Amino acid sequence: MTFQDLNIIPPILDAIREMGYNTPSPIQEKAIPVILGDKDLIGCAQTGTGKTAAFAIPAIQKIAAVKAQHGAPRVLVLTPTRELAVQIEENFAAYGKYLKTRQTLIFGGVSAHAQVNSLRKGTDIIIATPGRLLDLARQNQLKLSSIEILVLDEADTMLDMGFVNDIKKILSFLPVKRQTLFFSATMPPPIRKFATSILRDTVEINV
Ligand code: AMP
Repeated sequence: MTFQDLNIIPPILDAIREMGYNTPSPIQEKAIPVILGDKDLIGCAQTGTGKTAAFAIPAIQKIAAVKAQHGAPRVLVLTPTRELAVQIEENFAAYGKYLKTRQTLIFGGVSAHAQVNSLRKGTDIIIATPGRLLDLARQNQLKLSSIEILVLDEADTMLDMGFVNDIKKILSFLPVKRQTLFFSATMPPPIRKFATSILRDTVEINV
């Protein structure tokens, strides 16, 4: 199996080849067709399995396929920590370098000024921790009504950290018609219940 077999477009193939990826990892083989096929996804996967690329590559490909009529963000990734957000942002920047997709990092503990300025310039993809994102959404600094793809990364950790109410409030700013991708290292009953409550037409994959 190659990334070409997964129907990844040449500008992304070139970028991932430069990163030294030769073959898709198991989660990438399973998740990429599901995501390109517009299904919601539950992915049970640990860090280190290549799960970031499993959602970032098809998300970039999907937004590149249809030009936006607006400058508003189209992909929102929620992740528990600033460190994870930074890593995910670097992944999006690398895979999207030939498509010139724009990404913005949003996290708490620092001034919101630079983050708000970056949003104002226009962005395609937001990678955020839930608390600061909710603050900015409530202050109308951020338009979430054009989000087409929502990714919940390390959902079990976000819930353990007490982000459940923030996430629910963020969901209320998003279009009901969207694609939702739910990744979690563990899937105990409360996590599964939460996933089921926000997903529809779902494919589940485990690696
Ligand atoms: P992740 O599980 O997303 O944190 O990724 C773990 C590491 O694997 C990261 O350093 C990625 O750059 C790398 N990686 C992801 N997909 C592939 C691949 N198909 N081939 C080689 N390395 C990869």
